[in-house]
Parts: sequence; structure tokens; C-alpha cells
Amino acid sequence: MDAVETLISERRMAVGKLRPVGSRVPKCVKRMHGRPELDWDTRYHTECSASGTDALSMAVAVSMAGRPADSTPEVLLPAYGCPDLVAAIIAQGAKPILVDLVPDSPYMDLEHAERAITPATVALIGVGLLGVPERLDRLSELCRRKGLFLIEDSAQCFPPASTEGGWADFIVLSFGRGKPINLMGGGALLVRRDLLDRAQPVLENFPIIGFGSGLKWAFRRWLFNFLLHRIPYRVLEKLPGLKLGETRFRSLQQTQRLALPQEVLSSGVAHFSCRPPTHSGYVSELVELSKFGWRSLDGTTSPSGANRLPRNRFGLLAPSGHLRDLVEYALNDAGIGASGFYRQILPEIDGLEALFSNTDYPNARNFADRLLTLPSHEDVTEADVTRINKILRALSQE
Ligand SMILES: *Cc1c(COP(=O)(O)O)cnc(C)c1O
Repeated sequence: MDAVETLISERRMAVGKLRPVGSRVPKCVKRMHGRPELDWDTRYHTECSASGTDALSMAVAVSMAGRPADSTPEVLLPAYGCPDLVAAIIAQGAKPILVDLVPDSPYMDLEHAERAITPATVALIGVGLLGVPERLDRLSELCRRKGLFLIEDSAQCFPPASTEGGWADFIVLSFGRGKPINLMGGGALLVRRDLLDRAQPVLENFPIIGFGSGLKWAFRRWLFNFLLHRIPYRVLEKLPGLKLGETRFRSLQQTQRLALPQEVLSSGVAHFSCRPPTHSGYVSELVELSKFGWRSLDGTTSPSGANRLPRNRFGLLAPSGHLRDLVEYALNDAGIGASGFYRQILPEIDGLEALFSNTDYPNARNFADRLLTLPSHEDVTEADVTRINKILRALSQE
């Protein structure tokens, strides 16, 4: 069958739409015996926040604390990523400094990072992308040598990599829609215990808001989970004005902590741990696809070498931006939510152009042009994976 026939027949099969991302919101299960432990409890203190952006903003505030106010503190971050990072940095009056990526990879270029460090630099944010954590050991070596704080942004990776190695000084988690643990909002800042004396007086200045669990939350959860199904999702996606999945810059008005009940968080962790590693169906196909120039984000092509932790969506790099766009279009046409993700480097995202004068981040730009994400949440079936792989292969052979 040639590519056109494949696409036509797959299109005919499309009923509703397989959402690109988003795990179901877990039911809150109350435990009988006391406070459940979180994996990172021995190394890190957990401070819940109104969102991942709020948590990052608090991490920046702690990194800046006690510095003389003679220059604007600077924070390093990758030039490709979530615009919320910029919002969190400027919310604290710090200046975001962008760093290019290593070619064909989601990792920060360490030499470029080192050159960007000035006496005003206070912290570096290492961002895990789509379930692939940053090289925290190497970032931590650089930060130690230069006297910077290392913030691990683990909003897209769970559990955070530093729970094992203790590399990051601060870890950011998000519990928003589309994140590994979906509580329809909220986040957490994990503070390494040796820094708690420094962090506590800063964190105490941020107001705490209530979580609002109970019946209202239960209803929202029911409604949210209903809308994740294929037919309602298709309807939702068509609504004008909703603009699902669009990347926009929003500033952070106020940084807040959150009184997140422990059992809600641990229910989220338990829900995550029960999910199947759906993406392994894509990893096994990569052996074939790599012949056409596709690559996984962490460079693995063997199913045995791949990280088996569940991922909400699976990222891969197309051989060209043109093929990425073609495949993205064809998959969506066949009722499969594939996405190019942020699509642009940070200086080119709507609302951020005025903030950055330099747009010369060739590797980040190339990455943004070629990244494709495939759904791999718990409602992706084996039949979906087979269809997706078929479309990918058909278009790559053209
Ligand atoms: C979503 C996200 C954030 C922000 O989290 P919110 O809870 O949405 O504020 C920060 N960093 C990364 C990498 C993210 O994906």
C-alpha cells in the first residue's frame, strides 16, 4: 500500500480524537495509617504551590535571597521550552538568560551555559522534557564550580531525577492538566534539606491558598475525565476560542503556596505508578524509523535500553521540519492528537519578543522545528500505536 492509500484508509477510521496528552485525574483515596511517605522525603522538603510556575518563582526567590541589590540577578534556562519559566523568573525581578541546546537533543549546551555566566548569575534551570530528564550530574558539577543554585524543572518528568542523586538544590513539580500527575492544578517546590534554613524564611512570605477539595473537586474531576474521551475531546477541540494546546506567554501576577492535602498528592503518585509504559510501542518502532533519520530524545533505539516509566506523551525528532509538519498533519487528520509542542524558541513566542533581543540559538531552533510528540497516556491502545507507526513509516518512505 502506498502512503496516500494508507492515509486515506486511516482517515476513514477516525472516530473522535485521541487526545495528545493528559492523564485522567485520580480519585482521592484516603489512607488509614498516618501520613504516607513520598519517595524524596528523606532528601527533600515538600512545599506545595498554586502551580509549577509558582514553585519555580519561589525557587528563584530563594536563589536570590541575601544578594546585594547592586545588579539584576540572572537565571540561565534553555532557549527552547515552556514560556512559564520566563514568567517565573521575571515575577521575582530576575533576568532570564537563554542558553542554546546540544545539536539534535533536548539537553542544554554546557559550554554555552558556562560562557553565559556572569557575576550576576544566581541559578541555572535544568529542564526535563517529555519524560527525559536533563543531565543533572553535569549541570550540578557546573553549578557547584560557579557557585550557582541548580533548579531541576521536573514538571514533565516524574519522579524527578534528583530524588535519586540529590543533584538539584530545588525541584519543581507541576500537577496541571497534561502533566504526569494531573490534579487539575497545583505544583510543588522540593527544597533539599540542607537548604531548608535558608529557604524557610523566604517561603514564609508567600501566602497560602486553600485547595478546595470535597464535592466541588469531585465534580470537576468527573467532568474533566469525561471530556478526555475521544468524542467529547473532538467536540472540545472544535470550539472556537478554547485554543487547546496553544503556547502563549502569561505573566505570573502573584506567587502563592497551596494547602494541598497529602492524600490528594499521594493518590496522584499512586495513579502514576499504575500506568502502563505505552511508549515502549514507539521505542520498538524506532529501530525501523531511525533508518529514515528519526531519533528519540534520549538517543535510545532499543526497547530494553529505554526508560520504562510511563510518559504522557512521547517525543521524537523528525529528520526534517518538513516531514514533522507532514506527519503531524496526517496524524491529526486520522484522529490522533500529535503535536509539534512549543514549535518556537522562547524569544519568538507571542508576548516574549520584546524581552529578548538575541534570537541566535540555532540548535534550539532546529529542535523546535523537528520535534513531534505522540500520545502515550493510559488511554492509548495497542491498535492506536500500530496505526500511528503505520502512518509514520508510510510518510517517511515517501
Ligand atoms: C507546565 C510546565 C511548567 C509550569 O507548570 P504549571 O503548573 O502549568 O504552572 C513549568 N515547566 C515546564 C517544563 C512545564 O512543562
